[in-house]
Amino acid sequence: MNNSKIWLSSPHMGGSEQKFVQEAFDTNWVAPLGPNVNGLEKDLENYLGSDCYVGALSSGTAAIHLGLILLGVQAGDEVICQSMTFSASANPIRYLGAVPIFIDSEKETWNLCPVALEEAIVDRIAKGKKPKAIIAVHLYGVPYKIDEITAIGVRYEIPILEDSAEALGSSYKGQQCGTFGTIGVLSFNGNKIITTSGGGAIVTKTKELKEKAIFLATQARDNAPHYQHSEVGYNYRMSNICAGIGRGQMEVLDAHVNLRRAMNSFYKDLFNTYDGITVFTTPNEDYFSNSWLSAILIDSDKTNGLTADKIRAALDAANIESRPLWKPMHLQPIFKEYPYYGNEVAQTLFETGLCLPSGSNLSDEERNRIKTVFLNLLTKTN
Ligand SMILES: *Cc1c(COP(=O)(O)O)cnc(C)c1O
Repeated sequence: MNNSKIWLSSPHMGGSEQKFVQEAFDTNWVAPLGPNVNGLEKDLENYLGSDCYVGALSSGTAAIHLGLILLGVQAGDEVICQSMTFSASANPIRYLGAVPIFIDSEKETWNLCPVALEEAIVDRIAKGKKPKAIIAVHLYGVPYKIDEITAIGVRYEIPILEDSAEALGSSYKGQQCGTFGTIGVLSFNGNKIITTSGGGAIVTKTKELKEKAIFLATQARDNAPHYQHSEVGYNYRMSNICAGIGRGQMEVLDAHVNLRRAMNSFYKDLFNTYDGITVFTTPNEDYFSNSWLSAILIDSDKTNGLTADKIRAALDAANIESRPLWKPMHLQPIFKEYPYYGNEVAQTLFETGLCLPSGSNLSDEERNRIKTVFLNLLTKTN
């Protein structure tokens, strides 16, 4: 039997990526920028709709960094951030010398808890500093409680930086994720729903903001024949080669969303009859998830002692990758001295959850290998 590694989420090429890359070579557009970058930005703007502007960058992390600068975040400012996320959501706060304020998750979408968020804002204002921005994340492709979180941002006049790195192709009430915040962020890292082998994008509501982002991403060069600079700049633009891969990937984005959602259904069917294992899913029809990663929660009281750790070990023994959920930022050594608001929802999710292989490129044979491991585990414990 084929025992090759089954990955959590690996790149899945559609077919025409090489055509766009070849074009770049044929026309010697190997330098940064060029027609593929413009083309990818147009493709993304068409896909996202709602009159947004997209700037292609070297990574999602770069997009968050520039987004915070565009929102006016400076050293000493406070920035609110969802605790349960990948560290790249929070690191750019520290690049700027600003202070992260971490917020717990709610149980339905695993994202920003509106109650803890408002409590934090009120308390930070009472302590003398109004937070400059709110970083909200769509974890694993499931949209955060957009109506509630947006309303809080409006009420306290704090802009939202929407970290949609995991949620390209997800939507809420028919509107694409990435277009809800004052600034939106996308990632095309190798493990994301589509990849440029490494890259990201910033989404803005005005042409001026996009132009400002691109100005900062290209070393903040003033309009002069010589190199003149009046602001600190960055080298954060996407290359024309990477953007070529992205253009090919845009052609298969919706197909890949459907395949990932089919993986999610596969797990729902698999665990349907087992009491202690639940598949993470959207709260209601308003939410549409790209199912970037499928995750489960294990209630070991009901599984006869079977824990996330034991499942991970069993999958690993069969050469199948799985991974604990994101460890909350307020529990990370690097962030533990910063304020945290909430209870233990994020921590409990981290302790009882597991991400399972979710790629759009998994075969029936691979699904069967995953299923076999679980059937063995579950018959032993039921
Ligand atoms: C992947 C990811 C990022 C960072 O994107 P890169 O392109 O890898 O820099 C940021 N936030 C979240 C939630 C992510 O999953």
